[in-house]
Amino acid sequence: MAQTRDDNTIAGNYRRILARIRTQEEHFRRKPGSVLLLAVSKTHGADRVREAYAAGARDFGENYVQEALDKMALLEQTPHPLTDITWHFIGPIQSNKTRDIAASFDWVHSVDRLKIARRLNDQRPELLPALNVCIQVNLSNEDSKSGVPLSEVESLCADVARLPRLQLRGLMAIPAPCQDHAQQRAAFKPLATEFYRLQQQFPSLDTLSIGMSDDFDAAIAEGSTMIRIGTAIFGARG
Ligand SMILES: *Cc1c(COP(=O)(O)O)cnc(C)c1O
Repeated sequence: MAQTRDDNTIAGNYRRILARIRTQEEHFRRKPGSVLLLAVSKTHGADRVREAYAAGARDFGENYVQEALDKMALLEQTPHPLTDITWHFIGPIQSNKTRDIAASFDWVHSVDRLKIARRLNDQRPELLPALNVCIQVNLSNEDSKSGVPLSEVESLCADVARLPRLQLRGLMAIPAPCQDHAQQRAAFKPLATEFYRLQQQFPSLDTLSIGMSDDFDAAIAEGSTMIRIGTAIFGARG
């Protein structure tokens, strides 16, 4: 690695994580470049997004609709509009927010019920391509209310695959936090197994959205194609 560990700027953090992803792809015999780094910019302002952008980030994740829309508007302003960002909505979805999500995002990782999928489908503006969708799966069944149980993923995938303005891309999960690498891998494994099984049935499935600041090594080992990193790039959220 060219830069020093002391480079704790957003750009330095971004480049260091990217380098680690490439190293871990090799280590776990993943295809080079097969894991995409999604910069989770929730609670961080437009200026910090610009810093990550300058370091090469083009995919950003947001959890709160209004915050995201305000930020997008700032980033589109002249004299330096950023026009090639891919925006991912990764937070819990309320029904009354689907119209804004469908109009302003390129991806939604947190679809966990048909009602929401239908609304996103119906509200996706005609001039935009189909909205990329991941189904959120609840792996731990304890703390988080979000996500469909693993046993119901197949049927929700089948329903979503029939909606013409959505493109079924993958599965997403947020396992209960834990620091042990082997336990982290064990939590991800049933999801990965189901993902590979469903790929036979749904050819558009190409995205396994797993891995955050504290468990992305394990996620890459288990087949992640998109890791969602906030804290390790932007620092702690206030
Ligand atoms: C906040 C968030 C992240 C990023 O978490 P960090 O631990 O800060 O990397 C990733 N995914 C989702 C769904 C989030 O809400």
